[in-house]
Amino acid sequence: MTYIRGDVRELLLAGHTNSEIVRRLGVDRSTPARARRLLGLPKPKPGPRPAASPEDLFWRRVKPVSGGHMDWTGYRNNTGAPSIRHEGRNLSAYRIAFRIAQGREPDGHVRPGCDRTGCAAPACQTDRITRAEARKVDALYAGIFGAPA
Ligand SMILES: [Zn+2]
Repeated sequence: MTYIRGDVRELLLAGHTNSEIVRRLGVDRSTPARARRLLGLPKPKPGPRPAASPEDLFWRRVKPVSGGHMDWTGYRNNTGAPSIRHEGRNLSAYRIAFRIAQGREPDGHVRPGCDRTGCAAPACQTDRITRAEARKVDALYAGIFGAPA
């Protein structure tokens, strides 16, 4: 089996150790080790780490819950949106999560597309483009199976 969880892959590529990944994602110890071998990544060198990136700060502030969703344990801005303070700026955790999952800057407003309120999981974040695609798929299904009652 060669499947690698997206969140495990992201953390490995971001330079996290196996034990950090186990702690953050609640996966079995063998999961990051196996993914590291499959990706051909070396073990991270011991010693001081570079300054935390917004992505690092993001991963320290999420708690995985069932169904692949994640709760935000960090700061919220005055509108209640998950927020990260980085180099003197407040960044939207939803936008950082979106970049982690999609590998590109979001287009327009980012919000979770799942039914878990305030979900911070990278895979759950949507922008204008992904929402338009989801509507097209919904319309296609409605055309095939009939509109939902
Ligand atoms: Zn979610």
